[in-house]
Amino acid sequence: MSAVFLEDLDAETYAAHVARDGSTVIIPTGATEQHGPHMPLGVDAMLSRAIAGAVAERIGALVAPVFSYGYKSQPRSGGGNHRIGTTSLGAAALTGLVEDVVSSFFSQGFKNVVVLNGHFENYQFIYEGLDNAVAGSRATGLEPRAVLLSYWDFVDEHTLEKVFPDGFLGWDIEHGGVLETSLMLLLHPEKVDMSRVIDHPPAKLTKYDIFPEDPARTPASGCLSSAKGASAESGQLLMEAVTTAVASSLRNELHVANLSLEVN
Ligand code: ZN
Ligand code: MN
Repeated sequence: MSAVFLEDLDAETYAAHVARDGSTVIIPTGATEQHGPHMPLGVDAMLSRAIAGAVAERIGALVAPVFSYGYKSQPRSGGGNHRIGTTSLGAAALTGLVEDVVSSFFSQGFKNVVVLNGHFENYQFIYEGLDNAVAGSRATGLEPRAVLLSYWDFVDEHTLEKVFPDGFLGWDIEHGGVLETSLMLLLHPEKVDMSRVIDHPPAKLTKYDIFPEDPARTPASGCLSSAKGASAESGQLLMEAVTTAVASSLRNELHVANLSLEVN
């Protein structure tokens, strides 16, 4: 299992992976961010790392060390950057980190880099870093490919209906809610305390942002919806749906169908 995580490999084994046709590394990205009283600060990083690991096993990729810090949490998608425990990067830092790490993977010989995002606010800044890294590598004569995705975008309608039987209200209010809590109950049950879930209605969000943030406008729980309906069974449905769909998309985009995990 742990053979897909590159931090566990020695340099010679790593080099053999990199040298393969279609060699692919998946970088999971998360955040250090409060997730209410019932879950730890590392949820976004833990989930993206675990999903990246499952996808990597399916397509014969490696998984890079997770990005544990992310872009500033925002009130309309993560509860806000003012909350205790939430420790964030600015745009330039995140973009620069992505560009440097991805450029290094390309120059070492990886043909493909995938960034599998687990923190809503990261996306556009990762996009910038990835775009810069690909352009820079192509300018040196390399022909790398890259894919950027956020894992929740791969949850299909059928799975949504099962996981949200009362109706799905959108990914932006899923911070600390049923999606993340169900996946944590599946993957890291010992880190979740369901007795501490605060059951409240979904956050009523404005259609705009204000500066400075007003902490009174988002739920005191730190979650944007209730995790009361979360379960490990839902987590299993979500994990299977996401892993299958992401692996399928990556096989199509990156020509990795013939890779195997024989090298170790
Ligand atoms: Zn989260
Ligand atoms: Mn987040």
